[in-house]
This record gives sequence, C-alpha cells and structure tokens, in this order.
Amino acid sequence: MRRAGKQNTADNVNNFNSQPLYLRFIQGVNHMFNIILFGPPGSGKGTQSEKLISKYGLKHLSTGDLLRSEITSQTPLGLEARNFMDRGQLVPDEVVIGMISSALENNPKANGFLFDGFPRTEAQSEALDKLLKLKQTEIAVVLALQVTEEELIERLLNRGLTSGRSDDNNAEVVKARIVEYHKKTSAVADYYRSFDKVVEVSGEGTVDEIFDSLCNEIDKRKS
Ligand code: ADP
Repeated sequence: MRRAGKQNTADNVNNFNSQPLYLRFIQGVNHMFNIILFGPPGSGKGTQSEKLISKYGLKHLSTGDLLRSEITSQTPLGLEARNFMDRGQLVPDEVVIGMISSALENNPKANGFLFDGFPRTEAQSEALDKLLKLKQTEIAVVLALQVTEEELIERLLNRGLTSGRSDDNNAEVVKARIVEYHKKTSAVADYYRSFDKVVEVSGEGTVDEIFDSLCNEIDKRKS
C-alpha cells in the first residue's frame, strides 16, 4: 500500500510536469516549501520552530498550540481535547485533522508551512498528504530531532516548573506522553521514510547548534 502511494506521488508529479504550460499556469504551479519538524515530546520542536519560521518566512502550525488556545477559550473542542491531553494521550485524529484543514484554508497565501506536533499518527500523515495534494504541493522534508529518553524526561519536568502546562508537571503524564509517542507517533517517521523524506538531526547541543544543522538540511533542499 505504501509502495502504491509512492508510485502515485511520482506519477502525479510527472503528469503535472508533462502538462502544457498554459494548463499548469491555470492550475497554479505551487512553490510552497513545507516542512514537518518531528520528534518526541520535549525534543525542542517549539524552540526550533520559532527560529525556523522567522528565517524562512513559513507559517507555523502547531497542533499543541492550537489545542491549548481552544482550551483557553473554553470552546467545546478545547474541553473535549483537555480530557485527552491531561492524561498524556493523543486527541482523536478527526479533531486535529479538522483543525489543520481549516488552518490550511485560512492561509492561502503562505510561502509554506512548518508543521510542529502534526502529524502524530499514520492516519494524520495520510490526511495531511491528501490536503497538501489538493493545494498541488507536498512535504519537502521531515526533520526528525533525536534526543535520549532521560534527557527528554528531565527537560519536560523542568519545563513544567515554569510553563504552566498541566501535562508537563506530572512525571506520570510525561511518561504517558512518551509511551504514546512510541506507540503511535514513531510510525509517522516510518511512513515518511517510505517516501525518502526523513532526515535525522541531533536534538542535543546548544539551541544555535541544532538550528544550524536544521538550516543546513533545509538549504540543501530549497532551490
Ligand atoms: P509536545 O511539545 O510535548 O510534543 P504538544 O504541545 O505538541 O506537546 O502537544 C501537547 C498535547 O496535545 C499532546 O500530548 C496531545 O495530547 C495533544 N496533541 C497535540 N498535537 C496532537 C496531534 N497531532 N494529534 C493528537 N493529539 C495532539
């Protein structure tokens, strides 16, 4: 099934490129550059995202941030999501896919998107690919931050001292998030590996060292 997906993507690109120029023009040749910043909870996705969006002018889409803002506004979606988040579990796929789909629609002029904390399951990855295909674009690269488990737990509990996030200040919830990551989210890397899109980058070192490594990988792929 994954092979078929890979084949389809290549076919679509070839079909598109072989179309007459006027048709491509009418359909809109899309020059968006889209990145997934991938890694376990506490791997530094939020910190690096801020720096990357300002350097490359991308629109930052963090499902964690979108969900927390729904919680703050006490919307029905936020109240439902909170039940899952407070237990360290993933929010149901249809909720986050719906959020991302509206965010894509609301930003038609973006140069590209940086996805942070999304996709987190294989179903979310497949849904994202479909949504991007409708915009005649795709994921250029998945940058996967690598951090050891001991370091992750220490970082998350430290962040809990100041972040005010209820899912950070309880060791049981932090561990549950890491278990959830291994159970469901690591499959996202396998999914994109089957399309040769994953690059592993060390998430340990100074913020600037990690940022330089990420930029290096992006610059190799950006024309
Ligand atoms: P972290 O930075 O620790 O990885 P986030 O801020 O991205 O965490 O997300 C916090 C919580 O929000 C997650 O533990 C999960 O419950 C929920 N969440 C965020 N993104 C998703 C998603 N794509 N799918 C399901 N749940 C999500």
